[in-house]
Amino acid sequence: MEMKSSQMVRTRIAPSPTGPLHVGTARTALFNYLFARKHGGEFLLRIEDTDRERSDPRFEENIREGLTWLGLQWDGAAVRQSERTAEYRGALERLFAAGKIFWCAHTPQQLKAERETQMQTKTAPRHHCNGRHKQRTAKTVRGGVLRFRNDKEGAVEFTDLIRGLVTFQAPLLGDFSVAKGFDEPLYNLAAIIDDTAFGISHVIRGEDHISNTPKQLLLAEALGVMPPQYAHLPLLLGMDRSKLSKRHGSVSINEYRDQGFLSDSMVNFLALLGWHGEGNRERYSLDALVAAFTLEGVQRGGAVFDEEKLRWMNREYLKDLDNKAFRGRIEPFLKPSWREALARDAINWEAVAKLVRPRSATFVEAAEGLEIFFEVPRYPKELLLCKSTQTFDAVGGHLTAVREQCAAVSEKNFSETALRERIMPYAEAQDGGRGMVLWPFRVALSGKRGSPDPFAIAAVIGKVGTLARLDGALSVLA
Ligand code: GLU
Repeated sequence: MEMKSSQMVRTRIAPSPTGPLHVGTARTALFNYLFARKHGGEFLLRIEDTDRERSDPRFEENIREGLTWLGLQWDGAAVRQSERTAEYRGALERLFAAGKIFWCAHTPQQLKAERETQMQTKTAPRHHCNGRHKQRTAKTVRGGVLRFRNDKEGAVEFTDLIRGLVTFQAPLLGDFSVAKGFDEPLYNLAAIIDDTAFGISHVIRGEDHISNTPKQLLLAEALGVMPPQYAHLPLLLGMDRSKLSKRHGSVSINEYRDQGFLSDSMVNFLALLGWHGEGNRERYSLDALVAAFTLEGVQRGGAVFDEEKLRWMNREYLKDLDNKAFRGRIEPFLKPSWREALARDAINWEAVAKLVRPRSATFVEAAEGLEIFFEVPRYPKELLLCKSTQTFDAVGGHLTAVREQCAAVSEKNFSETALRERIMPYAEAQDGGRGMVLWPFRVALSGKRGSPDPFAIAAVIGKVGTLARLDGALSVLA
């Protein structure tokens, strides 16, 4: 790979605090982090909060929290663009004095009309300003914007480290805007100033920014600074292969954390969105990723965000936790009263964990699965019916028979096997199959449509609990 040998690798993630940390931004942050760590370099956090209206400190906090949760610790203090207005102003004044930027006083309506004509005549939408020579003063033009005076003929080219040679025709970029005023820089200007001022060696960002790169390169030339190298990551797509958006489900990292995904599996999953290592290896810790990551391993085509794969990945990571670690990690997801019951050893954690863990892809699902061991079930009477054709009388008869069998087993022998041996022959003998008995038995114990089988639940909650729940169901029916 091309790399200026004398230069230290320094990357950055530059989120705008206009929303919670997006999975796409987290993926970009991860790739920047990996590249920097792999080359013994630095990874910086820059908060791009120049859009005063849409930026919100709460989102900045959310972004920091999300990156920290993922373990993507940035080096040094974050840079906040709103605190660097003086630097941008200085650069804008220099560019203005040199005639490289100018005030454009065209109104939004005029620009819109121009765009519409360009669409109709199928020419590239751009604004080549005919007023660029008129404005010579540095005074603010009300409603106007500062634009780059784009006189460049021919191509602007760069070698993208993922895509190879990328070429844009400079005139098609038009006189692009750089600031709304001397104290209100726009993204392209602030980005190139900061990338160069902080010695960013590699800008790794989403493909949606590829059309900004020629603008940033023209600005670098005008400012007389060396631009970084660029690598544009493939877009994230939903399962329907359209650009990933809220429509496809959760897109914010902290939502996944709150749903009970492990940060390790999230990192592993994000890494595989557009990158793959050797062979078919799927499992990577963050350290293993640092060792294995290369930009050559990044694909060009869009990367599909498959939540089922994330769930699979999380299951794999959950399996690696022993019961004690699992208990520690799930506690924040439990109701305080459940936590207390656990602390008192009121339930047999080993037995419960054995039942619930294989059925859960996340901590939230596992917590839902645990509910039946902490709470007396509540359910509508109809849920006791195995089929809509089953009568409440028939269900009542089966539950009474099951209760008798349970009552006949001593507390000491109240095991899954013992209960199964007694109840299965009765269940198998029913017209309509064993479900006629096992379904209402299971609902009586769990109150849920889906749960472990009734013998397993009964063995965990014990004889007293089982009889009480059966009596509860019989009174629901009465
Ligand atoms: N604020 C931009 C974004 O969040 C940063 C783009 C870049 O990395 O230059 O998309």
